[in-house]
Amino acid sequence: MTATITGSAGEVLKTKKRVLTRRGQTCNQRCYFCYFLNKISNESHPEHAFMSFDKAKQICKTLVDFYHNNAIDIQGGEPTIYREILDLCQYCHDIGLYPTLITNGIALSQEGKLEQYRDHRLRDFLVSLHGIGKVHDQVVGAPGAYGCITKALEGMVRLGIPRRINCTMSKPVVPLIPEIARKSIEYGALAVNYIAFNPFEDQKAGIRTHENVPRYSDLRGPLTETLDMLEEAGIEANVRYVPLCMAEPRHRKNFYNFQQLPYDTHEWDYESWMWTMMYPQRMRDSSLNATYRLGYGASGLYRSDAFQRRDAFEQSPVKGRIKYGVQHVLARVESAVRGRDVLYREEAKLRASVDCGYRYHDGCNRCALKNICDGFHGDYADLFGTAEAKPATDLRPIDDPLYFIKDQVKVVEPEDKEWAM
Ligand code: SF4
Repeated sequence: MTATITGSAGEVLKTKKRVLTRRGQTCNQRCYFCYFLNKISNESHPEHAFMSFDKAKQICKTLVDFYHNNAIDIQGGEPTIYREILDLCQYCHDIGLYPTLITNGIALSQEGKLEQYRDHRLRDFLVSLHGIGKVHDQVVGAPGAYGCITKALEGMVRLGIPRRINCTMSKPVVPLIPEIARKSIEYGALAVNYIAFNPFEDQKAGIRTHENVPRYSDLRGPLTETLDMLEEAGIEANVRYVPLCMAEPRHRKNFYNFQQLPYDTHEWDYESWMWTMMYPQRMRDSSLNATYRLGYGASGLYRSDAFQRRDAFEQSPVKGRIKYGVQHVLARVESAVRGRDVLYREEAKLRASVDCGYRYHDGCNRCALKNICDGFHGDYADLFGTAEAKPATDLRPIDDPLYFIKDQVKVVEPEDKEWAM
């Protein structure tokens, strides 16, 4: 059965069916407010400069042809300052990748800009609204940014361009979380993502402090009010990287830890994500590395620093082709035998435990949600400890990552309409 609603953003398909996402992403890191900050501020960083248009196109084509992705988030840093961004949007559309721009909205406040993106077949904007008024300006470090972002959002409403909202929950933003939901309703956002201020990538230590990182338990009240409000308004809401015990039971369906993330159709596909996040794909001056599949040997390849920087593929193309050819075959066999969902879940657990050093409190051992919850980000645990854990003891142990999120209504890409309700 297909159900649609029509809003100011046009026809929107929604679903409760959870399938592995096919959304890819590419990036060349130039953002001034995020985990790419170090690369932005350091001009000699190998990932500082934008990649060429040809390289960006090669990556996009690989996402379609090899990884079978159907949507892409284009981020920079700030993608609207990339010279060929309009042509890249058109290119993605033409090869079957719905293009989304993750943007701070500043450039989009200029007259006529939004119309250009619409005419180059942009699918939607994911707008980074990290506060209201002066708080937004302060958090993003740009006076006047809030005026620009609201002008851009108003323009999207006027032109009927779909928009979603991202909000990083740094400490000054916490009291404004419900207000951001009200703004999202006012601007007719299709979805709102509230993201914990956790570090990722090679973000330098010391950026996060007691002054700018809120306690998870302080998020509970504002998030409860907010999620009720967005539910009532029929807007998809997602909370990312926060322990499940910080949710009211009725809101557990909105909480995405690493094990739930691959089923968020607005999030990135782990398989292509592993490939696009390798340094050769992100640097201006490097040819693309060989593709590889999730499964046999992938984790070792992805987490090998030598591999990330430059694989032996270039030094010995013949050996490289054999190596990756074998990897493709063995990973396919493993996926067929064990199932793709199993492989995605294993990768999710590695992202939490190995990449981010997530930790559990002793009490988590009594918690029915432990098998599907990441616990506390390692960096957070260093700042605040893990004593806020509130084990769920009134349920039988749950081992299905979809157990709660299968009850959430999500927006679907038009190409995935077979999933729609
Ligand atoms: S496993 Fe620990 S952190 Fe996760 S929900 Fe249970 S008590 Fe909270």
